[in-house]
This record gives sequence, structure tokens and C-alpha cells, in this order.
Amino acid sequence: MTDSSPLADSLAEVTGLDLHMHSTASDGALAPAELMALCRTRGLTHLALTDHDTVEGVAEADVAARELGLRLLPATELSSQWSGINIHVVGLLPEGARGPLAEGLAEQARARAARAEEIARRLEAIGLDDALAKARAQAGSERPLGRPDFARALVADGLVKDIGTAFKKYLGNGKRGDIKAHWPALEAVVAWVVAAGGVAVLAHPLRYGLTRRKRGLLLDAFRAAGGEAVELVSGFQNPDQTRDLARQLIERDLSGSVGSDFHAPGGPLAPGSMSPVPRVAVTPVWHHPRLAGFAAA
Ligand code: AMP
Ligand code: MN
Ligand code: MN
Ligand code: MN
Repeated sequence: MTDSSPLADSLAEVTGLDLHMHSTASDGALAPAELMALCRTRGLTHLALTDHDTVEGVAEADVAARELGLRLLPATELSSQWSGINIHVVGLLPEGARGPLAEGLAEQARARAARAEEIARRLEAIGLDDALAKARAQAGSERPLGRPDFARALVADGLVKDIGTAFKKYLGNGKRGDIKAHWPALEAVVAWVVAAGGVAVLAHPLRYGLTRRKRGLLLDAFRAAGGEAVELVSGFQNPDQTRDLARQLIERDLSGSVGSDFHAPGGPLAPGSMSPVPRVAVTPVWHHPRLAGFAAA
């Protein structure tokens, strides 16, 4: 790395960086410009806005970031499936969402709409009447619907006591409202990111409930598809698990990224808040040649 970059040479020493955050363009609570202002207040300098399956928030965030003197990478968090599991891939997109990725995002929006109708049908069967309209009301805008909108609708109707229970009973992995059939294969979304001149980053690998062995198979498939980096730390996680994950990345020559997965103020997480990275020999993703412009001072 050049001396002119404010980013550290090691993942363990980086400060001021968050490469995974959400805005009102998907299921986050803050408008893109509000999110940038909060990042500035928290002393962050290098950011990626990673809304689910969209880059709709990036233009507003970019204007705000320039005014505030922040570096922003256009990005998105893509929904996909691998081995029957819903896997998220962050695309870091220094050249924006061009080429097949633009087509892909349009397809993701259609998939999300079709999935929302299916989720609504399934929740109506357990007593949430007019589920689609109620989820839309919770979203409060015309943006594509996500499972958190249905979770809030379930809470508002008194069918569950809180969001956590809504996921546990109805929307979480393997429950009736968890519908993966609409998402493309992991390999397809990685290919979109690569074709757009971006870097594909496997999001929060410790959050899929996989054994170490199965996680290794996921990393192999991701790398074979053209994936180049993995979130070594996502929000708060156990340091022993981080070290173990680091070994799996080093074995496969995968780079490491970090992010909070921030969605809303008021919780334990804020932009830039995540567990510290242990001293491990994982290459920081910002060393990637495609991200040189982002990393430069
Ligand atoms: P979707 O993109 O529609 O599949 O919704 C997935 C989103 O739901 C994740 O990005 C989280 O923001 C949220 N989510 C997933 N699991 C939970 C949970 N157990 N509690 C609260 N929110 C969750
Ligand atoms: Mn989310
Ligand atoms: Mn995710
Ligand atoms: Mn996320």
C-alpha cells in the first residue's frame, strides 16, 4: 500500500472504516444522507453502503459523502442461494452497478416482489390478514419489501411479541416465511459483481449456522465462482471464531473485509462498531487493485 493511504496495512489496525451498512433504500432506518452524517459524527472516513439487492441509495449517499469529505464505495448486498441456504454476497463496486449487474439488480427486485407475495400468502395462513398491505405500511415507502417488514407487521398485529420471535417462529431459516426459491445461485451473483469490475465479498460467514467443514465448502464454492474476499469480522463476534475463520481464509488466499451490518440507531451496533480484528495474516480487501482509488488518500 502507498504511504498516502490513511488505511492501515493490516486488518487488525484499521480504524475509520465500515464496509457493510444499510439505509432506507433497503431495511435500514436512516436515509442515505443521514447515515453518512452519522458516520462523519463517529469519525469514520471509508465507507460502503450495502443495501439489499439495490444501489438506489448510493447517489444520495455519494452527494452527502462528498460534502462531508468521506470516501464512499458504491456497493450492494446480494441475496443468493447455495446448497439450500440463503447466502449474502457484498459487491464492492468502484465502477458502479454496470453491465450484467444492472440487469441482475432488476431481476432481484422482481424476485423480491414475487417472494413478498408468497410470504404474504403463507403468513395469511397463520392469521395475518392482508399481509402484503401491512408489510408495505411497515416499510413506509415503495422500496422492495424484506422479511423485517413482515416481522414488524406480525408484531403490530399482536401475533408475536417482538421481531426476534417473528423470525424465530415464522421468518427465520427453514421457517414457513423463509422462501429462497426466487434467489439466483451464489455463482451467478458473484459473476455479476466481477463483470461489473467489482470485488465480491462473502458476507457474515459465521451467521449461516454452518459447521466448520460446511463453511469450508462454501468458501471453496465462493472462490471457484470468482469471489475474492470474505467478511472476517461482521458486527460483534467471538474472537476464537474469528481466528478460526482467518485460518480458512489464509488456506484459500481469500482477502478479508470488515463491517458492522448497521441497520438502525438504538441497538448495540453503530456504524463502525464491530469486534476488533486479531493479528492474523489475512490481506485487507482494500489492498485489491480494483479498490486502489478508494484506498488512496
Ligand atoms: P431479506 O433480505 O428480506 O431476506 O431479510 C433479511 C434481513 O432480515 C437481514 O438482512 C436482517 O436485516 C433481518 N434479519 C434476519 N434475521 C433476523 C433476526 N433473527 N432478527 C432480526 N432481524 C433479522
Ligand atoms: Mn437487513
Ligand atoms: Mn446479510
Ligand atoms: Mn447486511
